[in-house]
Amino acid sequence: MTELLHMKDCYLKEFNANVIRTGDDFVVLDRTAFYPEGGGQESDTGYLEFNGQKSVVTKVEKKGDVVHRVEKVPSVGTEVKGYIDWDKRYARMRMHTAQHLVSWVAMKLFGLTTVGNQIHGDKSRIDFYPAHFSEEDLKKLEEESNNFTDKGLEVRIYELPREEALKKVDQKRCDLSRLPSSVKKLRIVEINGIDLCPCAGTHVKNLKELGKIRILEKINKGKNKQRIVYELI
Ligand SMILES: [Zn+2]
Repeated sequence: MTELLHMKDCYLKEFNANVIRTGDDFVVLDRTAFYPEGGGQESDTGYLEFNGQKSVVTKVEKKGDVVHRVEKVPSVGTEVKGYIDWDKRYARMRMHTAQHLVSWVAMKLFGLTTVGNQIHGDKSRIDFYPAHFSEEDLKKLEEESNNFTDKGLEVRIYELPREEALKKVDQKRCDLSRLPSSVKKLRIVEINGIDLCPCAGTHVKNLKELGKIRILEKINKGKNKQRIVYELI
């Protein structure tokens, strides 16, 4: 099993590791700070350095192991140094944290549940249910979200036993019905004092880092489901 360094420290930009398995176009490392695609967040990119060579990491996927797709494949046992494309990752950390905030505000103001999200560095989207946003509602959602970014609340990440987490997390806020029963501990992302949501994604430490949220549009996705698209300015 690969040790997931980004789960403990979202700000880690470089790390040392050993190659434990390889294929034609991939390596598995004993530890990694590369975020594998999942939970609506895109995979990190970057590169590995070893024996004076540089190999671009084009994609990272969770396929049992964390699989790093690379240009040049180092052999098993090689020591490598990994470098994350930090600008891309940091943009997604800000976007993902904004998603948690907007999702919480939408629950608080309109009683909505977040049923999907897709995090990108430039524009991101959140799907809500049961949603019927008016233009005025979207304005309210944006304004109230930005009131909280101005406050500069801290974002904390920690683990809770499953039962305790299920008691603390508002069932309206996130759909945990598909959580496998094998998961005994949940990684909680808390916006201090307001939102609590289990998530394996990467997040910033303080809402101040978000700047301002601008909601760009809403899209009807049928059956009381609506998608909002937002950016950070
Ligand atoms: Zn998250």
